[in-house]
Amino acid sequence: MSAGAPSLRVVVLYPDLMDVYADRGNAIALADRCRRRGIGLERVDVRLGKALPEEADLVLIGGGQDREQERVAPELAAAGGRLRAWRDEGVAMLAVCGGYQLFGRGYRTSRGAELPGAGVFDVTTVAPPPGAPRHVGEVLAFSEIPGLGTLAGFENHAGRTYLGPGGRPFARVERGRGNNGQDGTEGAISVEAVGTYLHGPLLPRHPALSDRLLEAAMRHRYGTGAPALAPLADAYAEAAHAVAARVARERGVPAP
Ligand code: GLN
Repeated sequence: MSAGAPSLRVVVLYPDLMDVYADRGNAIALADRCRRRGIGLERVDVRLGKALPEEADLVLIGGGQDREQERVAPELAAAGGRLRAWRDEGVAMLAVCGGYQLFGRGYRTSRGAELPGAGVFDVTTVAPPPGAPRHVGEVLAFSEIPGLGTLAGFENHAGRTYLGPGGRPFARVERGRGNNGQDGTEGAISVEAVGTYLHGPLLPRHPALSDRLLEAAMRHRYGTGAPALAPLADAYAEAAHAVAARVARERGVPAP
């Protein structure tokens, strides 16, 4: 590791278009955890018409409705080669809802538009015709990643996402619909990339997931000699998680 304080580069994709239900809070939560530890965080926003930078340690993309997805899909898909190369290098990624759908192989919207995906996850998403019920409500899920435990959030999507043969779920739903309302899966993982339908925003009340992403980003930047993350007091985040989990248990529809 180079001398001086460690520093990470986070790339935020289309923050002006892909940001529903306060998903921007994910970047804020990560920046706050870095600041409290003295880790520098260089943030690069990629807007339409702008190329991805050469390097990244962490990539974030939030949710967006079909209209925004139609605008960003061609450029995002064109950047798929670089994003998949980053994934294979172990770059940490968090893609939420509409961003998760576009990080898959493709998304057919309710109007029948075939949007290409970046192919980070082996998932495919299809929206039912207009008028079919959206999947809306509280979600409680158990992560497939050891040590993460329960995840609590809010979903609102028409698209049904199906894992391909190379797709691994991020979690299993106990309440809520998850990927498709049929198989009980929620989201996807690939190397250090996480895709999920969970809004909240997700990271402020999930410190373990936040730190997992930051640890992967540190490993990407500094290799196996990366400095360990200092523990933080997370009582507030844990209390927020407990409230969200209780609400999901009370109000979320039972999982399929
Ligand atoms: N447009 C997508 C859907 O409805 C994603 C919505 C969202 O990001 N909230 O399936």
